[in-house]
Amino acid sequence: MKLNSKIKTIDIVNSPVPLVVNLSGKFEISYANHFTEDQDLVNLISELYIDDSILNININLELSYKSECGRCLSKKANKMKKSRLFKLNIDVENDYEINFDREYVDIEPFISEIIIDNLDRLYICSNKCKGLCGICGSNMNKIKCNCEEKNLKESPFSSLSQLDL
Ligand SMILES: [Zn+2]
Ligand SMILES: [Zn+2]
Repeated sequence: MKLNSKIKTIDIVNSPVPLVVNLSGKFEISYANHFTEDQDLVNLISELYIDDSILNININLELSYKSECGRCLSKKANKMKKSRLFKLNIDVENDYEINFDREYVDIEPFISEIIIDNLDRLYICSNKCKGLCGICGSNMNKIKCNCEEKNLKESPFSSLSQLDL
């Protein structure tokens, strides 16, 4: 099931101690060459409390996701474990569209921010990754195809290289 990231505003306001919520579900990600599949879940514990006009949102999350190598397209399953504390002044407008006049506080943008900040912009399985053959598409880490050799022989200029100039 999709993660329900909405928390009732009144529960936060009325709680005499920090409100603790445990959430679990699917959280769709598609960023650079990282993505989630059906079985990938996020599990998180969030603590919310107001101190003067500051809403404190502490999030501890664990996420499973996949990364695809930018060169050879091989997929790898990954896990991320991160936490962060956000502080928001609820008396002024904020980028997260948190407004205590609304029924719910949606912590989705905070979850996204933690995840995206911890993903590489370009994932490569290894610095030595040879990528895919541009002709036959083989993964050159696994197979040594003959495309390059064949291509040189068939090139109209290849005979030139055999001449002594
Ligand atoms: Zn690779
Ligand atoms: Zn090839």
